[in-house]
Amino acid sequence: MSDSPSSMDRWLRGSTIAEAATQSFAGWELLGRRIHGIISWNMNDSCNYRCSYCTQRNMADRRGVLAGERFQQALDTFARLPGSWEIKLSGGEPFRQPELVEITRQLVEQGHCISIQTNFSASEDRVREFLESTRGALNLFSASLHLEYDSPQAFLAKYQWIRPYESLGVRFHVTSVAVPHRLLQLRDEIAPFFKSHGIMFKVQPEKIDGYVRDYTADEQQILLQLGGHNHTGRIENNFQGKRCRSGANYLVVKSNGKAFRCYPASRLGGKFAERGSLKDGFQLLDGPAICPYTYCNCTVPIQRGMIEGYIPPLGERGSLELEE
Ligand code: SF4
Ligand code: SF4
Repeated sequence: MSDSPSSMDRWLRGSTIAEAATQSFAGWELLGRRIHGIISWNMNDSCNYRCSYCTQRNMADRRGVLAGERFQQALDTFARLPGSWEIKLSGGEPFRQPELVEITRQLVEQGHCISIQTNFSASEDRVREFLESTRGALNLFSASLHLEYDSPQAFLAKYQWIRPYESLGVRFHVTSVAVPHRLLQLRDEIAPFFKSHGIMFKVQPEKIDGYVRDYTADEQQILLQLGGHNHTGRIENNFQGKRCRSGANYLVVKSNGKAFRCYPASRLGGKFAERGSLKDGFQLLDGPAICPYTYCNCTVPIQRGMIEGYIPPLGERGSLELEE
């Protein structure tokens, strides 16, 4: 079962929309669980690729995976979350984490749902092991297509590993970084290719030092034709001054274990920015707080209606296309 459009509609578009971004917040149904919030967990800094546009390419330690002692701390902290959450795993590359399957198995046992963002380079055995460990609790398998290393045809072939799990509610999306010299290829070849196979395809604007790079007017037009940042319909979002539920129902956990309200909070700091750590526990806000940032690249709060006054756009299939 995927996110039910009716329950999401009620939450995001119905009479509760004001409440969602303000005070009372009941969560939503996902895969038979009532979900309280979402955590984007950058679980490691390790990656087998070296994409030219990677925002992490200058990190000193590219070999870092979560050490054994720390991953048990992480699991203990996730176990103390109030209710069920959706844990979105990314990196680096999450499949580089040796204990990935043990981690996801335990997170599911704790009652959480899982989503994953991967470069889809892991072996079939490893992917199938992961799919089994999250059976019935995996929401989104998001595959990042890095054209310097992989092809849409190869992704389509590997998608066959995922398909049997769609009846259990798994959704499969493909994303790609919209570097300027790829824009025409993305619009005219890649996006139509995936669309012809019924696969959701999204682009992410390239970022430099945490902000969207400069695009020409023509390039911006193509980006918008591709749906903008993760199908939000915009290339950049700015919700400064609005109340936002990040920190209360959304956290970003960085590879060093520190928890933040959202991605801009992790870079820029601010009054409500730091929200504990995997080691010392999470410190959730009681409710929404003002956004002090001029650029929001956090697809989860945007797409899940956590920002006061913002109603996410409908996806291509007439339902809410949730995801980053
Ligand atoms: S796959 Fe992702 S993390 Fe790895 S080098 Fe490419 S952009 Fe960076
Ligand atoms: S940057 Fe986005 S996620 Fe962060 S507080 Fe502002 S609106 Fe919320």
